Amino acid sequence: MFKKAIAGTAVFLLLTGLAGAQLSETEQRIVAAVKQRSPAALELLEKSVRINSGTLNPEGVRAVGEIYRSELDALGFKTRWIDMPPAMKRAGHLVATHEGGAGQRVLLLGHLDTVFEKGSSVPLWDRQGDRVRGQGVNDMKGGDVVMIEALRALASVGALEHANVEVMLTGDEERTGRPLQTARADMVAMGKRADYALSFEASGKHDGVDTASISRRSAGGWTLHVEGKAAHSSGVFSAQSGYGAIYETARILDAFREQVIEPSLTFNPGLVFGGTTVAYAEDTATASAFGKSNVIARDAEVVGDLRYLTPEQGERARRKMRAIVSAGNLPGTSATIRFIESYPPMPPTEAGRRLAELYSQASLDAGLGRIDIADPSLRGAGDVQFVAPYTVGIDGLGAQGRGAHTDDEDLEIASIERGAIRAALLVYRLTRVAPVPKTF
Ligand SMILES: [Zn+2]
Repeated sequence: MFKKAIAGTAVFLLLTGLAGAQLSETEQRIVAAVKQRSPAALELLEKSVRINSGTLNPEGVRAVGEIYRSELDALGFKTRWIDMPPAMKRAGHLVATHEGGAGQRVLLLGHLDTVFEKGSSVPLWDRQGDRVRGQGVNDMKGGDVVMIEALRALASVGALEHANVEVMLTGDEERTGRPLQTARADMVAMGKRADYALSFEASGKHDGVDTASISRRSAGGWTLHVEGKAAHSSGVFSAQSGYGAIYETARILDAFREQVIEPSLTFNPGLVFGGTTVAYAEDTATASAFGKSNVIARDAEVVGDLRYLTPEQGERARRKMRAIVSAGNLPGTSATIRFIESYPPMPPTEAGRRLAELYSQASLDAGLGRIDIADPSLRGAGDVQFVAPYTVGIDGLGAQGRGAHTDDEDLEIASIERGAIRAALLVYRLTRVAPVPKTF
């Protein structure tokens, strides 16, 4: 009976929302609570941004985790730190759980690390009027603060009491530890029991309208290895000496370009090297090669990436690439290609679209404008993709800024308040509805 009443109220809220930008009395108090905290939210952001937390600086990542952990502790979450095996050389992850009642379970995702390693010349924190430049301000400590302030607002009006919310802040999103199965095992387990996953990576903007993502492309790579016969260059093209590894590499890459391209699919050879002998150091992404113009190349290698929207598209691309590599080789050459998938694709789904509608409606109701769905080809990969096969996900609920990953990464300060209001309303509405059995 009680459960039914809650679900009924939520449906009513959704309907009134559709009818015309209305917030319930509790929701109005949630919005007021976020606004009241805005100066303190910026201070929390500054405190966490002033600690360098490059992925390869585990002490820094843990220190930022400690700051957020004490905030979540204060909101009544049970928090714990998950260590990764020492060989992985990563800080581990912060997990926080709040159990409450029979409503839908929501998983909130963020990350503690940034691309700015210790010794980076980018200033930690450089306030410039209504913006701030600094290490990870929008990717994604700004998003972490949006998430925490949304939860704080819910707690302050008593709305968290009956909510099932789990938080995971990873320590290695920018350079995921290996093996991936270990690095993301806990996240996958949390994704399996969640009804929704909300990820707080930076929000986007398209034609002046804020955007969120319901699909993200896979991120993976490939290495092409080509072998030829080392011989005097005067014999190149002959049946005996063949064409050498470099001509064969050129044939393969050109065939990729001519035969494999399709919408939403990209593959980029980022490094090519060849000669008589070659070597490649993966940890520094550096190649060396020895060769002479009068010797036919014996070895060549290409290091590339591959991004696709659906598993089927990925399979099709790999099949075509393998066929090109193994058939039609120039005389005297052979080639092999190896694929590595790091982030699985998150294809667009109807359930994801409905979740994006709820998010947009929450924003409209709060007077913050509609939210459009972002074009997946315009952004890279993210943690939400690991849980996408098990739950309904949305990304881009975080802060807004420019130049993520660059020396000029910055943040529009007002986007913290905006994001926190939208996220708080969405979490409030989702957690008040009883779950329906998963169809995954
Ligand atoms: Zn990020």
